[in-house]
Amino acid sequence: MDATLGIPPAVTDETAPFWAAAAEGRLVVERCSTCGAESFPPRGICRECRGRTLEPTEITGCGVVYSYTVNYQRWLPGLEVPYAIVLVEFPSHPGVRVVGRLRGCPPEAVTIGAVVEIGFEPGPGGFSIPSFLAVRT
Ligand SMILES: [Zn+2]
Repeated sequence: MDATLGIPPAVTDETAPFWAAAAEGRLVVERCSTCGAESFPPRGICRECRGRTLEPTEITGCGVVYSYTVNYQRWLPGLEVPYAIVLVEFPSHPGVRVVGRLRGCPPEAVTIGAVVEIGFEPGPGGFSIPSFLAVRT
């Protein structure tokens, strides 16, 4: 599976900490200093209280597939299909859901509730992009 095809992300002041952590293999989201709510993707504003004092906080441990889809369309020449795209939530981080490709199992084996590890893979422009690893489907 090659995820280096496509358009690199546009890095903003709000997303720079996410991409810097991703380059180190760490998944970070925004945590509000006022109310403690965690948000993803980074927006620079709290989704709960609209506070603007946010700090990056790392997500660790396994996630759970909240939903998924399987892409069969070869959007770009050289893109290997099919592959599963999963939306993952984290039981200890309510409200945070992160999308990424799934590795470690065939796309037809993905289920809602599958357990996945946080991971990354090389993406367009040299960025590391979220790519989860199936632990239990
Ligand atoms: Zn808040």
